Amino acid sequence: MTVPSIRDLDLKGKKVLVRCDFNVPLEGGKITDTSRIDASLDTIRYILDQGAAAILCSHLGRPKERVPELSLKPVAEYLSQVLGQKIALAPDCIGDITLRLINSLPMGHALLLENLRFHCEEEANDPDFAHELARGKDAYVNDAFGTAHRAHASTAGVTHFLSERAAGFLMMRELEALRLLTVDPEHPYVAILGGAKVSDKIGVLKNLLTKVDAVLVGGAMAYTFLKAQGIAVGKSRVEEDKLEVAREILAAAAARNVRFILPSDHVFAAAPQADVVAETGTEIPADKMGLDIGPRTVQQFIAELAGAKTVVWNGPLGYFELPQFATGTMAVGTALADSGAKSVLGGGDTAAAVAGHEWAKRFTHISTGGGATLEFLEGIELPGVKALER
Ligand code: AMP
Repeated sequence: MTVPSIRDLDLKGKKVLVRCDFNVPLEGGKITDTSRIDASLDTIRYILDQGAAAILCSHLGRPKERVPELSLKPVAEYLSQVLGQKIALAPDCIGDITLRLINSLPMGHALLLENLRFHCEEEANDPDFAHELARGKDAYVNDAFGTAHRAHASTAGVTHFLSERAAGFLMMRELEALRLLTVDPEHPYVAILGGAKVSDKIGVLKNLLTKVDAVLVGGAMAYTFLKAQGIAVGKSRVEEDKLEVAREILAAAAARNVRFILPSDHVFAAAPQADVVAETGTEIPADKMGLDIGPRTVQQFIAELAGAKTVVWNGPLGYFELPQFATGTMAVGTALADSGAKSVLGGGDTAAAVAGHEWAKRFTHISTGGGATLEFLEGIELPGVKALER
């Protein structure tokens, strides 16, 4: 089964429904980070250049009904600026008024539909709602990788009513990068996992253990593994109910000869606060919490990366939001960027941690999807991708 690319479609003269991920952060009605919109611009421009009309749709936030603060109006305004044409916002994503706007939309122009989640039928993948969404359109392009792990009306159901369908450029880029990790990845293959919770990554760990040669664990999740081995971790964040699972994962890694490398030294402090004194050592005192991997661990991780050919990284290695606990994440990030390995980063926090650094441009791919990337790495089929397959 293959996912057709937008380049496989003959779009000229067609009305194209484009599922985008415009779920951008807003503050006081202003967009604070436009990168999700920017990531879909080449798809939108391509559709317009083909002599088609683009009917753009997205969710924003998690409303269950119409919530004025979650209108896509700021997105329409931003799109108008960057696309150089007035992008009107339809008052709703379905209905007769919207259909009239779609019918009168000239080729080469785009229209934005109002927030899909103003209708609870969107998340319920309601067939009648999906049918309505398809009304007045000839083709469907999905560029919303970030929601591909959800079977919603606009990501799955709608494909039953639009047989001409394909993945947009962003979706294709994401899938190609993730395929590097799953279809014959080059070895040595190393996984770097960090972040807040083991519980979020149990499925990912179990699946990756069948594929990788080494797992490097940092972040708060490392302390659950260390405690599971009887190592004192002070006040570090530990998931007490996951100690047994952690032991099972350690045993599974050993059985498979996967090197499972946990921090051997730490940067610790009384609390994750800007004004605390950060100390470094191999043992975390009873009244302190581990907030970053220590310098010896950084060197161990870098040594593992030196010969790697494929690396997947999910989750920061420390409390990177504060600079005194970001050193491990930055040092390992720089080493990975320069390692020559195919490097794929996933998860919003990992992307945020490396954002803005010159060296971050040298990663093979930084995924825009959080949950979707994790589910893919767990080996779960993404419904939004499956729905596109031919
Ligand atoms: P996740 O969303 O699971 O990738 O987790 C990211 C969050 O984990 C970030 O907000 C980090 O600050 C946090 N984090 C990473 N390392 C630690 C640590 N050692 N202790 C507490 N929080 C951490």
